[in-house]
Amino acid sequence: MNKDTKEKNIDEEDYIDEEILEEDFVGEDLSFFKKTPVKIFFALILIISLIYISTGIREYFFYRRTPISVQFQPSGMVVDEEEIVVPVSVFVIRENRFKSARTDEEVDHILENGFRFFEEANISFSTRRIVDLYIESDNFLTNHSAFLKSVDDYDRQKINIFLTGHLDGNNGIAFMGLNSLAVADYVTAHDYRTLAHEIGHILGLGHSNHPASVMYQASYGTRFSLDEIEKMRRYAKEIEISR
Ligand SMILES: [Zn+2]
Repeated sequence: MNKDTKEKNIDEEDYIDEEILEEDFVGEDLSFFKKTPVKIFFALILIISLIYISTGIREYFFYRRTPISVQFQPSGMVVDEEEIVVPVSVFVIRENRFKSARTDEEVDHILENGFRFFEEANISFSTRRIVDLYIESDNFLTNHSAFLKSVDDYDRQKINIFLTGHLDGNNGIAFMGLNSLAVADYVTAHDYRTLAHEIGHILGLGHSNHPASVMYQASYGTRFSLDEIEKMRRYAKEIEISR
């Protein structure tokens, strides 16, 4: 009987020990789950800050070069007005921190496809020159008018298109009043759609609330409204090539 009692005691002790162990385990397990979301939260904050600290990393994740296999298909609609031909100069920045890596083929691709958006407005573009620019100065964005002074072929009577590698996180920029715009190699849309959007600004358009519009921000809208077409044609007339 004594033996039995002892054995029972041992069993009970063992059981209690096991229980304690289990409780410990459960306790640790719960605190692990309590802490993990906090750790994940801080890890995410760290990762997101790292991505945004470096434009290079951000561009790597979100910005792409447009493959030349992608072609823009115009709607086929053309406004019943005479054709307006707008003169254009193209500058490919080849030096300083904005330098573009575009090949000649890629330059042709963005121009051909970007200009096609204006077929429905019956506005076409005559590219008089494509110039590789070797300018050391980095003031392309910070003092654009000073930058333009150092560009021999800049002509305010034309639309001046600058192709750059990046634009500090922007797909494109229009310098209104200077008839000058820029499109980056690395963009979050198709580069030719960005080109069409910036030309739209140069031709007097603001942003549109319609997702189908070229002038809608951050989208793939590809059309101009009749109002927009009318406005662009009025502006285009002023810089039209005199015939
Ligand atoms: Zn815009």
